[in-house]
Parts: sequence; C-alpha cells; structure tokens
Amino acid sequence: MTSGLAALEARLADELAFLQLPAPRWTPALEHEGQPVADVAIVGAGMTGLALAAALVQRGVSVVAYDEAPAGLEGPWATTARMETLRSPKQLAGPALGIPSLTFRAWFEAQFGRAEWDALDKIPRLQWMDYLRWYREVLALPVRNGHRVTDVRPRGDGLVELAVEADGRSATSAWARRVVVATGRAGLGGPALPAFAEALPRTRWAHSSDDNDYAALAGLRVGVVGAGASAMDSAATSLEAGAAQVHLLVRRADLPRINKGKGAGNPGFVAGYAQLPDAWKWRIRHYISTQQVPPPRNSTQRVSRHANAHFHLGVSIVGVEERHGALQVGTSAGPIELDFLIFATGFKVDWRQRPMLRHIAPSIGVWKDRYAPLPGSEDDELAESPDLGAAFEFQPRAGANCPGLDRVHCLSYPATLSLGVITGDIPAISEGALQLADRLAGILYAEDIAYHYARMEAYDEPEILGDEWIAEPLPPPSAAR
Ligand SMILES: Cc1cc2nc3c(=O)[nH]c(=O)nc-3n(C[C@H](O)[C@H](O)[C@H](O)COP(=O)(O)OP(=O)(O)OC[C@H]3O[C@@H](n4cnc5c(N)ncnc54)[C@H](O)[C@@H]3O)c2cc1C
Repeated sequence: MTSGLAALEARLADELAFLQLPAPRWTPALEHEGQPVADVAIVGAGMTGLALAAALVQRGVSVVAYDEAPAGLEGPWATTARMETLRSPKQLAGPALGIPSLTFRAWFEAQFGRAEWDALDKIPRLQWMDYLRWYREVLALPVRNGHRVTDVRPRGDGLVELAVEADGRSATSAWARRVVVATGRAGLGGPALPAFAEALPRTRWAHSSDDNDYAALAGLRVGVVGAGASAMDSAATSLEAGAAQVHLLVRRADLPRINKGKGAGNPGFVAGYAQLPDAWKWRIRHYISTQQVPPPRNSTQRVSRHANAHFHLGVSIVGVEERHGALQVGTSAGPIELDFLIFATGFKVDWRQRPMLRHIAPSIGVWKDRYAPLPGSEDDELAESPDLGAAFEFQPRAGANCPGLDRVHCLSYPATLSLGVITGDIPAISEGALQLADRLAGILYAEDIAYHYARMEAYDEPEILGDEWIAEPLPPPSAAR
C-alpha cells in the first residue's frame, strides 16, 4: 500500500518539476515590529484554504494559513458532517489545481488500484478527509493549527494586523499584506435559525452543524426541521443512535428532486459568472436557491429504511414551547409532541456570529446596499451577501471609512453571489483558488512595481560573455560593393 503512495508522490514530484512549480519567491521579504510580514495570510485551512495556499506557494508568494482546529480535523468532514459519502461525483478533480497526481482518484488508485476505483460508488466522507490530509502533507503547506484568528484590522499603511490566539494562549499580533477569509460554508455568519429556536432551552435543540451528542437521543422523539442533505444526515444519525421516532418536518409539499446548480455547471459558468451583470447573477442564484437542492438519494434512503422514520411534507412549524417535560410543537397540520428538535435550516451571513470580523463588518458593502431586485425576487440570503470586487476583496459600503478594507479578500460560500460557484465546493474549488492566487500575485507585483523595476535594473547575469564575436569596423565602400 505504502509503496503505491510513495510511487504517486514520486510522480507528483516529477509533474511539479516538469511544470517548474513552485516558482521561487519573488516578493520582498518584509518585517514589521521584528516579525515577518506574510504576503498573504489565510484564515481557515479547510479544503479552500489548502487549495489557495497551494496555488500561492506555486506562484512564489509567501503564505501562512491559520486554522483553529487541530491538524487533520479542519472543516466539517471528520467533525460535524454525518453523511456516509460525499454528494459530489467521485471523478471531480477537486483541489488538484490541474495536476493529475494531486487528484483524489490518483491518491485512491495508488493505494487500492483501478478495479477498486471502478467499483467505488461515492467517496466515503472520512476518506475524503484522509485525502485532504495527504494533500496538505505532500505539498508541505504552511498551515498553523490550533491558531484562532480573533481580529482582522486592516490599516492604512499597506498592512493588515491579525490577532491570533495560539493553542488557547492570549492573542498576539501577526502581520500580512493581504488576508483571505476562507472560513467555509458558514464563513461570514453561522446557523440560520427560526426565531422560536432561540427561546427554547438549549438542551432541547441543536443545529445540524453543531457538535451534537447523538447518543443522548436514544429513546427520544426527535423532530428534524428541513429537507436538505443535512436534514437527512441528522435524521439518519439520530435513528442509528437509537432515537425512538424521527419526524422530518418539511415545509414544502414535496422534496426538491432536481439539482439545478449541478445542471448549470460548465466551464463557461465557472469562468464567466463573475463578469455577468448583477441582474443575471441575482436571477441565477435566486432561481437555484428557490428551487432548492435535493437531498442525495442514498442519504434519503438511509432515513427511510427505518420504520420509525416519518416524513411529514407540507408541514410548517407555527410555534414551540416546553411543557409537561416535552416540546409541544404547533404545526400547520396540528400539534406534535417531541423531545428534541434538530434544525437543518442552513446558514446565513450574520456578522455578530463572526467576532473576528467585528472591526470591518460595519464597513463591508453587501448586495442590498446597492442592488434592488425585481419585485418577486427578493431574497434575504442574497441581499446580505458581500458585494465583492474583481480580486474577491471586500468593498466599502457608502460612507464607510476603513482604510485597507480592500486588503481583505473572501473565498468562502457567501461570496457565491458575487463570484459564482468557485467559492468552496469541490467542483470548482481549483478555479477559485487559482483565480484568486493570480489576482493576489498580480496585485502584490503592481504594489511593488518600483522595487521590481529596480531589481530589473540591478539584474546583471550575462547571457553572453562578449567572447562570442569579434567586432570589426565597416568595410570601406568599394569593398562592400
Ligand atoms: C455537511 C457538509 C457536507 C458537504 N458535502 C459536500 C459535498 O459532497 N460536495 C461538495 O462539493 N461540497 C460539500 N460541502 C460544501 C463544502 O465543500 C464544504 O463546506 C467544505 O468544507 C468547504 O471547504 P472550506 O475550506 O471552504 O471550509 P471548511 O472546510 O469549513 O474550512 C474552514 C476552516 O476555517 C477554520 N476557521 C474558521 N474560523 C476561524 C478562525 N477565526 N481562525 C482560524 N480558523 C478558523 C475552521 O476551523 C475550518 O477548518 C459540504 C458541506 C457540509 C457542511
């Protein structure tokens, strides 16, 4: 087995060498207050942060990625996710950045062979995390785990100051010229919860992304609100943990069946979306979100195979209160008594849930500041999306005074309205990472143009030595005829 991976790693080293990657560092090494200044600091070393770090390293840019999670436990895959397999088809190139030996398939086949690959249906969730761990290690990416970024303060002098708590110790300052927020699906906020949830005792409910103790649901009557992939994963996990009953409470009269986002995917959509007029961006994203993404078939069957799983469609919750030692849930179809509720209700932009951004959040322009959707296509989630510039940078809202705000860039899910599907899902994460890395490299170069010009002037490596020819005077006119 190991020899298979060792052979792959040798092939990868060759591919990188053939492509002359990584480029040597070409940016000036800066210091501030005796500390190195990173060209780019990335907050988050999940799949997106890793892909971006790899793309920046390839471009000869100095980078550091901070992640508060312990090494190998970044992102949802081995922590809060509960699906058996990924939704994504196995053959997607994911964060491989165009390098064949960096794909999941190469990694899988190196260990288990082509026949196993052919037999594989979908990628097991934990195996995907194993692949991401290998990706980080084989590329020796500069990730600092156990490092939580607690404050991002752009300044007017070309630097961004980060407050970083390392391994629980009190925060110290770190410096970067550019910062990328790669904090994931809930990257600029957190769970989207119905108002009544907050009024319930915390022991009675969880959000699907919480680190919930499912074993404690054994013997209980559990309600799951929602009908997406996480609803199925939460319901199935509750059932497998021994819940007495699981009731899926679904507002829609039917489960969505078609994944319109998948149908929209093609190289033009990936490359061209960011240049579309606002009205088209809104129309596309609003359509995809109102159509909703169906839960995967295998995840739905994982629930329905249990006799004590109950799908209630066309049922919306009108109120909940704790009474008689249980939750009395009022619904549009009548009351139901439950012991525990799981809200599989997705995420929203909510700056209060991201204290790291508290200094810049009031200055960040969002779509509702400047775009008025057509009547009937209003959409709160889209309205709160950050209004990003061409380099994925936050842009100031009218009247804001936050020098250096444009030094903070966003490559996480809420950027999707501005940038398209390159912001964190497996199908186009390489494109997102490569595009942003190119923009950042270009910006860093342009900012230092005087330095690079001076380096060009000072460059003195001869290509010819002067001994390759002998200079002669012109021949006299008669001889030339
Ligand atoms: C349950 C689930 C299943 C999914 N399944 C699929 C799928 O099958 N196919 C697909 O294409 N997409 C899927 N996605 C969507 C997407 O691919 C994942 O959300 C993926 O994890 C995105 O990677 P990311 O790096 O952007 O974010 P994450 O993996 O969430 O990484 C963000 C990182 O930021 C760190 N962080 C956050 N705040 C700080 C801070 N202040 N300081 C330091 N570190 C911080 C976190 O610790 C985390 O490790 C799924 C998402 C979820 C939630």
